[in-house]
Amino acid sequence: MRDGGTVAVIGGSIAGCAFAAAAVRAGAREVVVLERTLGRLEDRGLGLCVHDERAAELTATGALPAGIAAHRLVRRRWVVRDGSGTGTGAPSAGPAAGGRVIWEQPFPFHSYHWGLLWRGLRDGMPAAVDYRQGETVTAVVRAGERAEVRLGGGGAERYDLTVGADGYRSVVRRTVCPESRPHYAGYVCWRGNLDARRAAALDPSGGEWDDAVTTVCFPGGSCVVYRIPGPDGPRVNWVLYATPPPGALGLDDPASDPTSFPAGRLSPELTEHLAGLLAREFPPYWAAVLSLTEPEDTFVQPIYDLETPRTTSGRFLLGGDAATVVRPHNTSGAAKALQDASAFETAWREAASWDGLLRGYEEARGPAGRDLVALARRLGRAQVERTPPWAAMNERDVEAWWREQLAGAAGIGGGSMEPAPRES
Ligand SMILES: Cc1cc2nc3c(=O)[nH]c(=O)nc-3n(C[C@H](O)[C@H](O)[C@H](O)COP(=O)(O)OP(=O)(O)OC[C@H]3O[C@@H](n4cnc5c(N)ncnc54)[C@H](O)[C@@H]3O)c2cc1C
Repeated sequence: MRDGGTVAVIGGSIAGCAFAAAAVRAGAREVVVLERTLGRLEDRGLGLCVHDERAAELTATGALPAGIAAHRLVRRRWVVRDGSGTGTGAPSAGPAAGGRVIWEQPFPFHSYHWGLLWRGLRDGMPAAVDYRQGETVTAVVRAGERAEVRLGGGGAERYDLTVGADGYRSVVRRTVCPESRPHYAGYVCWRGNLDARRAAALDPSGGEWDDAVTTVCFPGGSCVVYRIPGPDGPRVNWVLYATPPPGALGLDDPASDPTSFPAGRLSPELTEHLAGLLAREFPPYWAAVLSLTEPEDTFVQPIYDLETPRTTSGRFLLGGDAATVVRPHNTSGAAKALQDASAFETAWREAASWDGLLRGYEEARGPAGRDLVALARRLGRAQVERTPPWAAMNERDVEAWWREQLAGAAGIGGGSMEPAPRES
């Protein structure tokens, strides 16, 4: 499409920044980002990972600016609390302190600090983007051939196209597919991060696990721990998945709205439950590391699944978590949001009309998003809802169990956007 056009992007997080930049690169005449948060978005910082091949593709398309701080990971170790092992995975004072490694697999990812990733995307955004903070969108409606955006302050604005990059509780999704809403998966994650120097003080191995993701496996859950860069030096990031005590979240009613529990505001019940899991199920070293997390750096986030039957309707389009909420086991959410923005840019360049753009985007991203949701659901079932007898499994058993979860998928971290090689 050569004629420019006006675009509103609702939400100025990972997906929103990437979509706004993509719209400018593709030739939009005017791009506005409407973000409800006032103040510093980068302070939301937590860890995430992006697969190295996805990162390379996204850097090539321009969706991932170069130079954002990232920490290299090469392997993933699956560990159980067990006194009987050799302690090969143990940065420990004794053989059992770090647990027993039941399997190690390659993990070609880099980890990021959310705030530093967002800052890199925000700074990389073309100056032409009008990024407005403190703007809450209350509804979007069709206005003939255009998209009307209604604002919390009472005003309304019309654009040729509106992108919903407004996350798992998307207002834009209510118009594109009102029938779709996030479903609580039945478990939560406790998340936290801490200064890596504090963890290092407990680690006589001197950083043996710097390049590894450690997954602590226990009956009814699992926990991933890895390093991330941070604004004031490296941090340790952890995500522990388990079922919360019954009734602790008020989420057992499927009609309840999606929610999360901000840092420092965990109920005593959720704090005690976490402490109990660490004491009962964790190798002592990992329990000690996680216990160093300050209450203000500890969150609880319910896990949701959301898939949408369509990503576009009228002059509206959904990207990132607004389009699909993928359980985090897949390690793909940020990459998927950036891929959505890249696909949007390609669809724009290749289309002769708005309808062509919207069709091209749905063809590229609709099925890809639904595949990710399905894979992450299998991973969540295997790693939390129906955990295997990990401590009794050998390397071959664990690898077979892993392959079963993939069910033919190439791996985790999201699929490639490169066209598959043609058969000769
Ligand atoms: C525990 C956990 C671990 C994760 N780990 C990884 C990982 O390792 N790798 C990975 O790639 N991804 C990971 N993710 C997922 C990843 O963080 C997200 O998928 C990704 O950041 C895309 O987010 P988004 O920009 O679409 O939405 P969000 O980050 O939710 O942003 C939505 C934005 O819209 C704004 N907004 C919402 N409603 C309105 C409104 N009405 N008006 C105006 N503004 C509005 C919000 O303020 C927000 O800024 C993880 C997620 C979780 C929960």
